Amino acid sequence: MSDFNPADRIQDLQFFGEFGGVNPSITDSSTYTFLHAKTMADVFEGKVEGCYLYSRHWNPTNHYLSQSMANLEGTESALVCSSGMAAISSTLLQICSSGDEIVSSRTIYGGSYALMKNFIPKFGITTKFVNTTDLTQVKSAINERTKLIYCETISNPMLEITNIRELSKIAKENNCLLVVDNTFSPLIFTPAKEGADVVVHSLTKFINGMSDCVAGAICASTDFINSLYDVNNGSTMLLGPVLDSIRSSSILKNMKTLHIRIQQHSRNALSLSQKLQADGYRIIYPGLESHPQNELMDKMAHKNYGSGGIFVIDLKEKDSANEFMEAMQKANVGYLAVSLGSYKTLFSSPGGSTSSEIPEDERMQMGLTDGLVRISIGLDDDIERTYQKMSKCFKKIWPQV
Ligand SMILES: *Cc1c(COP(=O)(O)O)cnc(C)c1O
Repeated sequence: MSDFNPADRIQDLQFFGEFGGVNPSITDSSTYTFLHAKTMADVFEGKVEGCYLYSRHWNPTNHYLSQSMANLEGTESALVCSSGMAAISSTLLQICSSGDEIVSSRTIYGGSYALMKNFIPKFGITTKFVNTTDLTQVKSAINERTKLIYCETISNPMLEITNIRELSKIAKENNCLLVVDNTFSPLIFTPAKEGADVVVHSLTKFINGMSDCVAGAICASTDFINSLYDVNNGSTMLLGPVLDSIRSSSILKNMKTLHIRIQQHSRNALSLSQKLQADGYRIIYPGLESHPQNELMDKMAHKNYGSGGIFVIDLKEKDSANEFMEAMQKANVGYLAVSLGSYKTLFSSPGGSTSSEIPEDERMQMGLTDGLVRISIGLDDDIERTYQKMSKCFKKIWPQV
C-alpha cells in the first residue's frame, strides 16, 4: 500500500465557500428550487445528475464530507449518515433480502451484534457468527445463501485483527460482498485497498474526535452508493438516516486534524500498554509483540499511524475493574463513559456495557471477561504523567502490590 497516503488525500481536498471562504458554506436548506418543471422530474427519475432535490436525498455539505470519507478510504464514493449504526443497518439491508445469510465476526460492536442477532432475522436475514481470524471457520460457515461477510478491522472490544486480504479472497470466491467496519483504525488501515467492498464507519469516534455528535459513513463503489439513495429502492433514502448539514460541516473540519490526533493516540496507547505490561498486567494491544496478530498489524497498516488509540487491561474481577475505573475518574485520568476516540481518555468495562448484548457463555468463549477495562486513550501531552496517575489508582485498589 506504499503509494496510498490517505492523510495527503484529505489535506489536498479544496472546498471553497460562497464569497471565497476557505471552508465550504453550510447548506441551510431542506429543499431546492428548479427553474424548469421538467428538470425536477428528470432528477427524480435519476436521469439528471448534479442537481439537488431534497436534503434527505443529498445536500451539498454532506457531499463535501462524503468526498472526504471516500478519499480517506480510497473508495470511488461515500455517503455520510446520522450514525454508525445507520451506516451499518442501511448497508446490510441494501445488500440482503429475505432468505439471505450473513457470516459475521463474533467480536464486533455490541449494537452491530444485536442488529444481526436480534433485529434483522425478522426480515428473514440470518447471521452465523464465527472467529474471522480463523479463515477455515469462515469458509465452513458460507453456503449458497450467504450474501456478505462482515467484520471489524480491529475488533471491539478484543482488538483482534482480521486479515482483510485473505477474507476478501474468500468473499470473491463465493460471490459475497465483504463489509468492514473501520471505526477503530481510520488512516491506520485502508480495508478497500485490501479488497473490502464496503467500508463503514462511526464518525462519532476518532474521525470527529470531539465527543460532540453522532454520525456515520458508508464508503464503496459509486454504483453501490447510488443504490443507497435511489428514490424508489434505496435504504438510506427510504429509511432516512440523514446527517444534519451543520454537524456535517463541523466533522469535515475535524477531519483535517485526524492524522495528528491518530499519531498522538497511538503513541500514548503504545507507551502506556508497554509500561503496564512491564508492571505485570495482562494488556491487549495490537502494537505489543505479545498480541497474536502483531505481525499482521505491521504488515497491513500504513506506517506512521501506529496501532491505534485503544488498549484493554484485564483486571480479572468485575469489582476490581469497577474500583479501578472509579479511581481513574477521580484522578481525572479520564471519564467512565462508553464511546471512544475522544480527545479525553474514556474507559468502560465492555462485559457490563457495550458488549452486554452478547450472551455470557459466548463472551467467556471469546475471553471477554467481566474484569476487562477498555481504555481509549486521549490526546494527553505528557503520557508519563498519565502513567503515574494510573499507577496511583492501582495502588489504591491493591495496596499490597
Ligand atoms: C460506536 C461504534 C459503532 C456505532 O456507531 P454509532 O455512531 O454510535 O451509531 C459501530 N461500530 C463500532 C466499531 C463502534 O465503535
